[in-house]
Amino acid sequence: MQVYFTNSEEETIALGRRLAQELPSRAVVLLIGELGAGKTTLAKGIVHGLGAGEPDDVSSPTFTLVHEYGEGPRVYHVDLYRISTAQELDSVGVDELLDRDAVVLVEWGERFPHLWPADRIEIHLRRLDDDRREVKVKPGVSGHGPENSSGWP
Ligand code: ADP
Ligand code: MG
Repeated sequence: MQVYFTNSEEETIALGRRLAQELPSRAVVLLIGELGAGKTTLAKGIVHGLGAGEPDDVSSPTFTLVHEYGEGPRVYHVDLYRISTAQELDSVGVDELLDRDAVVLVEWGERFPHLWPADRIEIHLRRLDDDRREVKVKPGVSGHGPENSSGWP
């Protein structure tokens, strides 16, 4: 697990750009943290780092639930904050996104743990004070080992 600290929005965007370089072309990334932790900010950097869009193109996918960026390398940005029923979840079409050759960034995905592959990457963000954030990157479980070795359900 890697741990980073950032001291501004710009630094978190820059960190996202850096983390993007380490992502495989197909990945599920859960962005986990409270409102204002910096999930969308980190997504701006990841989208930019993958060459799929400018940081300013990225906003919270609150109303459309899924935003799509890029022509070549595709990035999907999903926000499940407002989803509560199974029917609403169906309407988002997460399963279909997971079948694509793309990077899928998800906010509030931890509310629906059964949806995600064992090899998902989890990035935990925590607000330390107004400007300071802790960002922990947990790489997904790779290979065919026991799926529970990470201690996650
Ligand atoms: P989330 O998507 O987790 O709700 P956002 O990324 O939308 O959070 O918002 C984070 C807020 O915190 C923004 O208003 C941003 O300007 C502010 N902020 C302050 N310091 C940082 C930092 N180090 N990293 C990210 N955001 C920061
Ligand atoms: Mg957000």
